[in-house]
Amino acid sequence: MIPHNLVYYRPSSLEEAVAAYREADEAGLDTFYYGGGTEILTFARRGNLKPGAVIDIKHIPECMALREEGGRCLFGAGLPLNAVIEGGSFPLLSRAAVIVDHTVRNRLSLGGNIAGRLPYRETVLPFLLADAEARLVGPDGERGVPLREVFDRRLKLESGELLISLSVPRAITETPWFYRRRVRKTRLDYPVLTACFVKVEGQIRAATTAAFGFPVWSPRFDDVLNDGAIPVSERPARAIDAAGLRIADNARASAAYRRALLESAIGEALDALL
Ligand SMILES: Cc1cc2nc3c(=O)[nH]c(=O)nc-3n(C[C@H](O)[C@H](O)[C@H](O)COP(=O)(O)OP(=O)(O)OC[C@H]3O[C@@H](n4cnc5c(N)ncnc54)[C@H](O)[C@@H]3O)c2cc1C
Repeated sequence: MIPHNLVYYRPSSLEEAVAAYREADEAGLDTFYYGGGTEILTFARRGNLKPGAVIDIKHIPECMALREEGGRCLFGAGLPLNAVIEGGSFPLLSRAAVIVDHTVRNRLSLGGNIAGRLPYRETVLPFLLADAEARLVGPDGERGVPLREVFDRRLKLESGELLISLSVPRAITETPWFYRRRVRKTRLDYPVLTACFVKVEGQIRAATTAAFGFPVWSPRFDDVLNDGAIPVSERPARAIDAAGLRIADNARASAAYRRALLESAIGEALDALL
């Protein structure tokens, strides 16, 4: 149970959602867009968050879109992960969205996974690799921006801004890919490493999460993976060093173990894709 009252908005358009945010914000309420609500409710129950108002985005058609349009595949931010997986139009995303169990995935939304506080944000990896465009709306109107411009470890939204959807070029969804996820015990655990790779126009791109503690896509990393002057066997270690980031080291897994897993995943990806 949440030990305080909150206002629940159920807009059916983007305009209504933005207006609801403005109204609640002007009333001094701590306001959150609400996808699956699992994180908001869990944090609120524990007292780590005190939402005054939530704006449920699941009745806004643009947030629930799942279609091809103008040569791009479009994924609404309100879609539950199972809908993204079963949509199947982006195989690497369908794979990366297989987290937790089927029942929980009926609730977890794509936007919640990417915009939420938990640092893994596994579904952002395929989008970072696929030249995704993020569609956003907020008090200053609607905008489309390359995802890489608004995602750096976390999604950088303006105050009151909502992630409507993400789209990727159809052609990239059909390129060769490779995926590795490593957990401590069962498949349901948080990852100690998740790594995604694609090969676009002969060049390998990599994005990873959990190893460094947050999602990372780095051009320096990719440069090493594709550098013909470096022996293939040396590229995993050299790519990790080139990223210039500290590897996470905690009770879930040591930095040395995560590094070994990441080197091994990169090696397998190079074998598969080169
Ligand atoms: C049991 C369990 C296991 C999990 N395991 C994993 C895992 O292995 N890997 C992993 O990556 N994640 C994992 N997660 C994390 C989960 O994906 C996030 O907690 C996610 O936020 C939940 O999605 P939601 O739709 O319920 O979010 P919500 O609770 O609805 O929202 C979370 C946050 O995101 C914001 N938000 C939601 N949608 C939008 C939007 N469209 N635009 C702007 N802001 C938005 C909300 O305002 C809120 O701040 C797990 C979660 C649970 C409950």
